[in-house]
Amino acid sequence: MIANYHTHTYRCGHAEGNEKDYVQEAVKAGLKILGFSDHTPYEYYDADPARYPSRIRMKPEELPGYADSIRALAQTYSGTLEIHLGVEAEYYPKYFPRLLEMLRENRIEYMILGQHYLGNEVGDVYSGRETADPQTLRRYVSQVCEALDTGLFTYLAHPDLIHFVGDARIYESEMRRLCRHAKETGTPLEINLLGMREERHYPTASFWPIAAEEGCEVVIGCDAHQPDKVMDIASEKAALETVSRLGLKLKETVELRKI
Ligand SMILES: [Zn+2]
Ligand SMILES: [Zn+2]
Repeated sequence: MIANYHTHTYRCGHAEGNEKDYVQEAVKAGLKILGFSDHTPYEYYDADPARYPSRIRMKPEELPGYADSIRALAQTYSGTLEIHLGVEAEYYPKYFPRLLEMLRENRIEYMILGQHYLGNEVGDVYSGRETADPQTLRRYVSQVCEALDTGLFTYLAHPDLIHFVGDARIYESEMRRLCRHAKETGTPLEINLLGMREERHYPTASFWPIAAEEGCEVVIGCDAHQPDKVMDIASEKAALETVSRLGLKLKETVELRKI
């Protein structure tokens, strides 16, 4: 790998290490491009102010510090490592316009889409929870498609996060709908190395042949939650094996879409 655009920091509350630790590991591993995409803060403006409703992301007040520190590292390491400032964001229709304002105010360069929850997160279901309900699968696919229609996401992280264990024919037709939409909007799909490392239900074996048939572009993302995971040779090898076996169109670098 020469580029990884999927990197977290301690700020999200479930990753370790600060941005400098990740940069040092990336240099050591010989990466050319390192993109930070920590879990975006969201402003749940109608929630109880005493209780932030999400436990997987930094708070809005942490965003300026995150942005400043990555911009400073980008300067320090220019010539050695190309560093980009992004976030991994869900598409939550109710809070999305305010999110964009906040990201623009802080000059965040790019977003990757990681649709971890359905609806607007608060009171709704985690996308990775096992389900046999076709309606949940359809909601996931529709919400992802709507997100891609904004044209603002650089790529779709772990498209196969949805953990559907119901009728395989329904899975195929819905995921084909997702893949066609990704193709139409020119959005690459990520083979997620965190899922591979931790033997999660994704990368999902039945998903990637559909992506190959639909001619989708793919990118490999480390989804690093620890500094030494900005490079993960064993998982990368397994991902490349899938790419070549299925004839997937791999992109080593991606063009960042302006927010
Ligand atoms: Zn995470
Ligand atoms: Zn992630």
